[in-house]
Amino acid sequence: DDSIKVVLRIRPPTGKETAEAACLQHTGVDTLTLLTNPEPTFYTLDHVAGGSQAQAHMHKVVGRPIVDNVLAGFNSTIIAYGQTGSGKTYTMLGELPEEGAHWWRLSQISGIVGSSCRSLECSLRFQPPCAAGDVLRLLTKGAAYRHTATTKMNDTSSRSHMVMTCSLEMRIVEEGAGVVRRRSRLSLVDLAGSERQKAADTQGDRLKEAQAINKSLFTLGQVINKLTEGSAHVPYRESKLTQLLRESLGGNSRTVIIPTVAPCASCFFETQSTLKFACRAKQVR
Ligand code: ADP
Ligand code: MG
Repeated sequence: DDSIKVVLRIRPPTGKETAEAACLQHTGVDTLTLLTNPEPTFYTLDHVAGGSQAQAHMHKVVGRPIVDNVLAGFNSTIIAYGQTGSGKTYTMLGELPEEGAHWWRLSQISGIVGSSCRSLECSLRFQPPCAAGDVLRLLTKGAAYRHTATTKMNDTSSRSHMVMTCSLEMRIVEEGAGVVRRRSRLSLVDLAGSERQKAADTQGDRLKEAQAINKSLFTLGQVINKLTEGSAHVPYRESKLTQLLRESLGGNSRTVIIPTVAPCASCFFETQSTLKFACRAKQVR
């Protein structure tokens, strides 16, 4: 089984894009075609979600299985990767604040615990460190903090990575076996925009920031390349981002990468670059 699952999401065209030609075709549940010249390029990933597929679909394909993993005691990570405006934040956090962290409604965890309880024929007791509503509130607060921090710098959140980790401890009371503790983590990673950060017209702190983002996304690509090759030396230490994601990418964490792409001709190069990244990630074993 591949250690990294890749679930691509195509966002619907917005505004002016609706009048534009498309740069891709969504051809099947796990395929899409990029309209390259002269020949089109065919891609097969673990799943491809199209523009008309809502958050609930992403929840079914990614959210629910990942929450099951976390409950089974595995650390799990979901990483959104793509150019600015391609739908990373929308996918990770729904439409804040009204919708809340749509598919991360961790209150569903207690529902799942209830059902595993029956199938395991043991008594499961879930003791959240805080109520499910608090988890949502924390996620929203985290996203709002990021938003404020970046607005203060007079820029958008495309310049920062966001990593939110939710730790879970379960106490499973089994008849005759006493209490078993299970700990696991769910990490949600909303990466900075993968388009090239313009270092040319930036200065001082901005320049450093642009360089750091370029470096961390570049290193992420390098790490994935090395993992694909089965190389003994994987350069995790070369960026903070990859140090942080080390367990998720190379360890025994279950990881889903959600590359997000825009469907229009004007986004062709960014979409192509995201698809290349997606294919490499798919090859990691
Ligand atoms: P990113 O985080 O990658 O920069 P956003 O998630 O902020 O991009 O999305 C950009 C815009 O497109 C937002 O207005 C968002 O609401 C909209 N959008 C993104 N993905 C979808 C989708 N799957 N369906 C509907 N609207 C979307
Ligand atoms: Mg965003």
